[in-house]
Parts: sequence; C-alpha cells; structure tokens
Amino acid sequence: TSFSDYNLSPEITRALDTLGYKSPTPVQQQVIPQALAGRDVTVKSRTGSGKTAAYGIPLCQLLDWEESRPQALILTPTRELADQVKEDIMNVGRFKRIKAAAIYGKQPFDRQKRELMQRNHVIVGTPGRVMDHIEKDTIDLERIQYLVIDEADEMLSMGFIEQLEKIIRELPTERVTMLFSATLPQDVERLCHRYMNDPVDIEI
Ligand code: AMP
Repeated sequence: TSFSDYNLSPEITRALDTLGYKSPTPVQQQVIPQALAGRDVTVKSRTGSGKTAAYGIPLCQLLDWEESRPQALILTPTRELADQVKEDIMNVGRFKRIKAAAIYGKQPFDRQKRELMQRNHVIVGTPGRVMDHIEKDTIDLERIQYLVIDEADEMLSMGFIEQLEKIIRELPTERVTMLFSATLPQDVERLCHRYMNDPVDIEI
C-alpha cells in the first residue's frame, strides 16, 4: 500500500513527502480509507503506531479550507498530547494552510478565548478546558463535522467521562467520529455504542 492509493490532494502528498512518510503504517492503512469514506471508526492501537497521522491525514484532506468556523474537534487527555497533535495536524496540513488551536488548562483563559476567535479549522483540547469554553460560550462548535477522541481509555481513567459526554452532546449529530484507545474497557465500549454511528472496529 502506498499513500498514492488514497487520491490525496497535492498539498497533502507534498506534506507527507516533506515529513519523510514513505508509506502508510498498518493503522493508517486501516483507518485512512474508512475515514475518507466518512465512516466512524473505533481503533485499538497504541502510541508509536502512527495513530495521529491515521486521523490527521484524512482530516486534513477532508477539511474545507474556505470554512471560517471550526470543523474538527480533537479531544486528548493531556496538554502534552494536545500540543503534539496540533503540531502534527499543522505539519500534515501545512501546504493547505490548515489552522489549528490547542486549548487546555493551566493557561490563561483570555488568551485562548482570543485564539478561538481567530479562524481555525481544527480545535485540539482537553475535556475540562473545552467544557469551560462551552459554558462561557467562547467556542463555536456548530460547524463541527469531525470528532476525534484520542487515548479514550486514558481520558476515562482520569475521570473525564462526564465532561466527554457533555461535550459530545453539544456537537452536531451529523458528523464523523473516530475513537482511538490502547485498550477498550467497558466504559469506552459504552461510549462508542452511545455516540457513534455503526463504527468500523479496527484492531492493530
Ligand atoms: P504516533 O503513533 O502518532 O505518536 O506516531 C509515532 C511517530 O511515527 C511520529 O513521530 C510520526 O511522525 C511517525 N509517523 C507517523 N506516520 C508515519 C509514516 N507513515 N511513516 C513514517 N513515520 C511516521
């Protein structure tokens, strides 16, 4: 399998060349075609497998550059992962000029508020701070078409389940949802069952 099998736009292909990604990793081979086709996916895989690009590549391909309101929401358990994911998305989307914001706790709320008022295609954040912005009405989720829940098991073991469900209920129901988790404990399975649309189960 090669990236050229996916009919990616020249901007994305050029970014993958620049990053030195020659061929898709196993998780990417499974996830990219499903995501491009608009299917929900539940992916059991761990860090180091190339899982960020497995959702980052189809997201960057599918995002409408012209839309000025955020189209994708990526939830992560930690600040470090949020920053890493933002960087990865901006690398894959660089020649398409994809803009991403990362929002998490222990950072001035007002600065994030201003960042959220800018044009962003993607918002990456931790559930607590995303919920704060929802409550203060400083985040625009009305145009979200793609939801990624990264490291779902970590997020739940950190006690984010209620916030996660509250956030999901704020999103448009017409969307693609992708959930990534190293393990699939019962509460993660329940989340998938409740908020995903006939997901394709992928295990690497
Ligand atoms: P992740 O599992 O998302 O943390 O990615 C692990 C590492 O693999 C990161 O440093 C990525 O930049 C790198 N990576 C992701 N996809 C590919 C690929 N197709 N070819 C080579 N390296 C990759």
